Amino acid sequence: MANPMADENRRFHGSDEKNPFEAMSERFDRAAKLLGLDDDLYAVMRVPSREIKVYIPVRMDTGHIQIFEGFRVQHNFARGPAKGGIRYAPDVSLDEVKALSAWMTWKCAVVNVPFGGGKGGIICNPQQMSLGELERMTRRYTAELIDFIGPDKDVPAPDMNTNEQTMAWIMDTYSMHARHTVTAVVTGKPVALGGSLGRREATGRGVLFCVNEAIKRFDLTPETTSVVVQGSGNVGGIGAELMHAQGYKVIAISDVGGGIHNPDGLDIPNVLDFLQKNRTLEGYPGAEQVSNKDLLEIECDVLAPCATENQITSENANRIRCKILAEGANGPTTPKADQILHDNGVFVIPDILANAGGVTVSYFEWVQDRMGYFWSEAEVNARLEDKMVASFNELVHYADKHNVDSRTAAYMLAIDRVAYDTRMRGIYA
Ligand code: GLU
Repeated sequence: MANPMADENRRFHGSDEKNPFEAMSERFDRAAKLLGLDDDLYAVMRVPSREIKVYIPVRMDTGHIQIFEGFRVQHNFARGPAKGGIRYAPDVSLDEVKALSAWMTWKCAVVNVPFGGGKGGIICNPQQMSLGELERMTRRYTAELIDFIGPDKDVPAPDMNTNEQTMAWIMDTYSMHARHTVTAVVTGKPVALGGSLGRREATGRGVLFCVNEAIKRFDLTPETTSVVVQGSGNVGGIGAELMHAQGYKVIAISDVGGGIHNPDGLDIPNVLDFLQKNRTLEGYPGAEQVSNKDLLEIECDVLAPCATENQITSENANRIRCKILAEGANGPTTPKADQILHDNGVFVIPDILANAGGVTVSYFEWVQDRMGYFWSEAEVNARLEDKMVASFNELVHYADKHNVDSRTAAYMLAIDRVAYDTRMRGIYA
C-alpha cells in the first residue's frame, strides 16, 4: 500500500547547502528515485532508527559538575549492528551526527561489511579539557548508553578528537558493567587491548588504494601524479605519508591552521615531523604558505580533502582544478558542488567509498576480537586492499551500467543492498 508520508517526504528539497543531513537526504532522494525504490522502503530507510540524547554530568578538575550534551544516532540495523565513530567537538550537532550515521550505513553497504550505521558526538572542547575530565566524560557517556551499545547492537569507534585511549575507556566501562571483558564493543582500540594491527592507518591506506585505482583511468602512474591533501590527522597525514612512500608527488598539505605548497613536491615524513614538533605548519622551510581555502584551488591531479564537511561548495567548486577528487573526509562536498564538479569533468571518489578503509578494518578488528585470534599487519593490509579494490571496481561498473556519476552510483549501490535486506527481513510494522 502507498505510504501517505512518502509523498510528503519526497517533496524534500535541501534549503541549507551546508546542513549535512540535508546534503545526505538530497543524495538519498536522487538515488532512491533512480532505483525506483518503493514508498515503504523509502520511508523506512530515509530516517534513523533511533536518536539518543544524553546529558552527561562530569566532575571537572575545579571540583564542580559540568553538564555536557551528547548524542548517539543509530541509523539502520538491517545488515547488522550499528557501526560508527564518536566525535568530540564544540560545534557537533544532532543534524551532523544524524548525517554521519546515515553515511555509515551507506559506507558499510558500499564495501559490503555486515554492519548498519551509527554515529556519536559530544559537544565539548577537548583541547581545553584535561585527560581526567575527558576520561570521566567518556565513561559517563558510555554508562548512559550502556543498554544501547554492544558487539551485537552498536559498535563505536574513533572519529574527530577521539582515539585509541577513548576507545580503551569505553571498552573498560562497558566491561565493568558487563562484569567481564568485552573487547568487541568498540573498534580502534589499542592493539594490546584487542585492537587490530593496521587499524590506525586504515582510513589513509584505503584512500591510497582508491587513488591507485583511479589514476589508471587517466593513464597516470604514482610518479606522474601530483597530490594535494587537506588535513594532516589520522586520514590526511597518514594518507599523504603512504602516497609519498609509494612515489606520488604530494605538493601541498595543511592542518587546521593552514597549509604549505611546493610544486616540486614535499618531503612528507619531514613535514609531519615538523608539525609534530611545532604544532603548526607555519614557518616550514622551502614551501609557500597557503590558507586551507586556497589550498583546495591548487592545480593538481588528485585533491584529497581529508578534514571536515562542506569544504567544496557552490562558492568554490568552479575553481577546483583537479582530475580526481578523493574524499577522505565525510561530506567534504555539498550536493550543489557535485553538479559543478560533474560539469567540469572531475572524477569523484565519493566519501562513502574513499574513506571506508577505516570501517573495513574496524570490521576486521571486530571479527578478530570475536574469534580471539589476531592477524598479522600484512594480512590486514592485504584483506583491506582486496576489499577496497573490489569495491572501487564494482562502483565504477555500476556507474557505467546505470550511466550515473560515481557519487550517485555509490548511493544507489548502497541503498539497493540495504533495501534488499530490508525487503527480505520484512518491515515489522
Ligand atoms: N569514524 C570513522 C568513519 O567515519 C570510522 C568508523 C568505524 O570504524 O566504525 O568512517
